[in-house]
Amino acid sequence: MKLFDVYPLFDIEPVKAKGSYVWDKNNVKYLDLYGGHAVISIGHSHPHYVEMLTKQLSEIGFYSNSVKIGLQEELAEKLGRISGYPDYQLFLCNSGAEANENAMKLASFHTGKKKIISFSKSFHGRTSLAVAATDDSKIVAPINETDNILFLPFNDEQSFVNAMNDEVAAVIVEGIQGFGGVNIPSASFLKTIKQLCEKFAALLILDEVQSGYGRSGKFFAHQHANIKPDLISVAKGMGNGFPVAGILIHPAIQAKHGMLGTTFGGNYLACAAAIAVLDVIENENLMLNSKSQGDYLKDALQDIDEVKEVRGLGLMIGIELEFACAAIRNELLQEHKIFTGSSSDKNTLRILPALNITKENLDQFIKAFKVVLSKQYVK
Ligand code: PLP
Repeated sequence: MKLFDVYPLFDIEPVKAKGSYVWDKNNVKYLDLYGGHAVISIGHSHPHYVEMLTKQLSEIGFYSNSVKIGLQEELAEKLGRISGYPDYQLFLCNSGAEANENAMKLASFHTGKKKIISFSKSFHGRTSLAVAATDDSKIVAPINETDNILFLPFNDEQSFVNAMNDEVAAVIVEGIQGFGGVNIPSASFLKTIKQLCEKFAALLILDEVQSGYGRSGKFFAHQHANIKPDLISVAKGMGNGFPVAGILIHPAIQAKHGMLGTTFGGNYLACAAAIAVLDVIENENLMLNSKSQGDYLKDALQDIDEVKEVRGLGLMIGIELEFACAAIRNELLQEHKIFTGSSSDKNTLRILPALNITKENLDQFIKAFKVVLSKQYVK
């Protein structure tokens, strides 16, 4: 059987990884500034993570959500405390799309309404509602098309004020837009959304799938704007590579048996991975490291002539060049053995390293980046 060919692949096969480095099958070492789409939060194969998962697997790996799984409660308690949402409720699932799908479904159940507002350049996943709320017509199949989603320009308060009404069940917005090119919603935009959601009895869903889990220097990116959403979706960094996701749910939203569900969500291994990640974020002060290393990198990048704009918070950084960045990314990978990310904006590179990246790792990148940019032919 052949693989269904949906991904353009680099001709590199990583077989080993540690911290911020991966090695391919020829033992070539790469600096990982992308973490496989922002997934690696505490570094590859962190010893505490490996130990927790290995121990858990030797005890019990899986049982379904028909029995009490104490690790889910331990995870909920830890996540509530570290994220600053101790009074919220947790629903566990398996991927970012599933978290957003369920968040929108829950908003509709709770409000009895069916209209959702989403924004330009958003990415919320590939399941039916999540993809319908994603601003990319190429990945929306005819069956996913719906009149229930209204797209408005990102960061445009007046358009939002004009469009908001009492038919809206929820507004969904990323804490920082990732795939869209690392765009930060302004504090005032988020505050206006929050106010009007309250006024029109709609729920505010913050998609923190990519921007959450300490990446922005705070646990959630929206915490820079001092607002509290009703629903927060999390995935990516939550399991450091183990598939685990969730929704943090406002205490006023009541659960009913059967309302949401999943076979694999919240299984023993997923919880062990997610608890290990939180332990490391807390014990190694990774939110602080994310802020300080991110500030260091942004400062260094501002001084480079070919860089048009540097956007982002903490270790979620977009570097917009004066020209398309595909050749630069390729050169960084092939010649300097450094992984970086792309975005839907062809001029913007994404830097999404592990939260325990060091200054030395970043210096290695800055040096290589300057060398690549100095070569006229890649432009
Ligand atoms: N939301 C955001 C902001 C994302 O960046 C992504 C993935 O890139 C998703 C949702 C979908 O997550 P998943 O690929 O785990 O379904």
